[in-house]
Amino acid sequence: MSSQSLLENTIKQLEYIGEILNLDKNIIEFLKHPKRTLEVSIPIRMDDGTIKVFKGYRVQHMDARGPYKGGIRYHPDVTLDEIKALAMIMTWKSAVVDIPYGGAKGGVICNPREMSINEIERLTRRYTAMIADIIGPFRDVPAPDIGTGPREMAWIMDTYSQLHGYLIPEVVTGKPLSVWGSEGRLEATGRGVAICTRESLKIFNLKNPSIAIQGFGKVGYYAATSLYDMGFKIVAISDSKGGIYNKNGLNPYKVMEYKNKNGKVIGYENSKDITNEELLKIECDILIPAAIENQLTKENANDVKAKIIVEGANGPTTPEADKIFEEKKIFVIPDILANAGGVTVSYLEWIQNIHREHWSIEEVNKKLEERMVKSFKDVYDFSKNKNTSMREAAMMIAIKRVADALKDLGVWP
Ligand code: NAD
Repeated sequence: MSSQSLLENTIKQLEYIGEILNLDKNIIEFLKHPKRTLEVSIPIRMDDGTIKVFKGYRVQHMDARGPYKGGIRYHPDVTLDEIKALAMIMTWKSAVVDIPYGGAKGGVICNPREMSINEIERLTRRYTAMIADIIGPFRDVPAPDIGTGPREMAWIMDTYSQLHGYLIPEVVTGKPLSVWGSEGRLEATGRGVAICTRESLKIFNLKNPSIAIQGFGKVGYYAATSLYDMGFKIVAISDSKGGIYNKNGLNPYKVMEYKNKNGKVIGYENSKDITNEELLKIECDILIPAAIENQLTKENANDVKAKIIVEGANGPTTPEADKIFEEKKIFVIPDILANAGGVTVSYLEWIQNIHREHWSIEEVNKKLEERMVKSFKDVYDFSKNKNTSMREAAMMIAIKRVADALKDLGVWP
């Protein structure tokens, strides 16, 4: 875990943008703090018969524009501050793509890789029961994040539904297709990353651009396959154990087949093994950090060769690194825009659930495409008009939308 606090960075960024927007200092103070923080101690019977108590959180940052919305993270490094920061980031993300949601995040300090499926299920169900009072289809709608996926979302839906006595699919998004999930949700974040990448290439017009992707989970993998399907060349891929490089290009479908067999991407045929640190500095046109936060720092930012950075992960760039990228004129597509495809299709899933409808993959992807292209254009045009970075433009649009909602609701005069 990086020593730099994501929460400190996120608050600093809010203060900075608030000043540029000339926002009332009181609104900024209001936005700095989550509206509600719930900490739970989750006792679970492990397979060996012992009881282990896991710490879990649900943080609700802001609901001025709609119900709270945000993923649930299972990771040993989860901290309350991290979850608070991620909840705030969710508020901006929903706002920048203009989706009627607020921002929330959940997390449990655990290592799902070292737990059995039964242990993970017991943990998920009890965590759900312990946060059930504050979530709900029109209160707070969880979704997957690092370490969780459709399986956990199904358990959350089932537990919440059992507590209420009837099926409530709209309480959570990112569910499996068999239980009211949406076509295209699993791929949505990566697909949105790919759409942003493609849109940025219309501006830069690079010949046969090469792409390096850090992280080969839900975001990294589907960003890789979407870009590959669009005809782009992926030269480097990594997971937590290390990465691979081939300047002539990698087939991400084949790399995933290999990873499924071997549990890692390193050792893949016709490629050179590299470290995660090397991947960030590798010769490429586009770098997509899609793993965890604080990967691009003042220590490595000067060595980044890419001309475009597309933030698939949340908070992968520290403010110091961001400054260096601005000086180096690297075009950074910020997380709140680049990875908003996930929350966009979560919203589409929620709408389908409420209406008890099931849309085709074509319909879902068309709506995702339209919203991502429009949001990218809105942010890009704003950044050109105000002569500012994409990150500042996205943050200005988002924070202004939330502040306007607070004013119009009468929360602020
Ligand atoms: P995931 O658990 O599916 O995958 C994470 C990937 O990162 C794995 O391949 C893992 O091996 C790799 N990884 C972990 N630590 C690493 C390290 N130190 N160096 C390199 N690789 C490492 O998680 P995900 O859902 O793909 O999420 C990735 C990022 O995207 C997170 O920041 C998450 O908050 C963000 N995000 C996810 C979604 C979503 O819909 N899943 C939406 C928006 C943002």
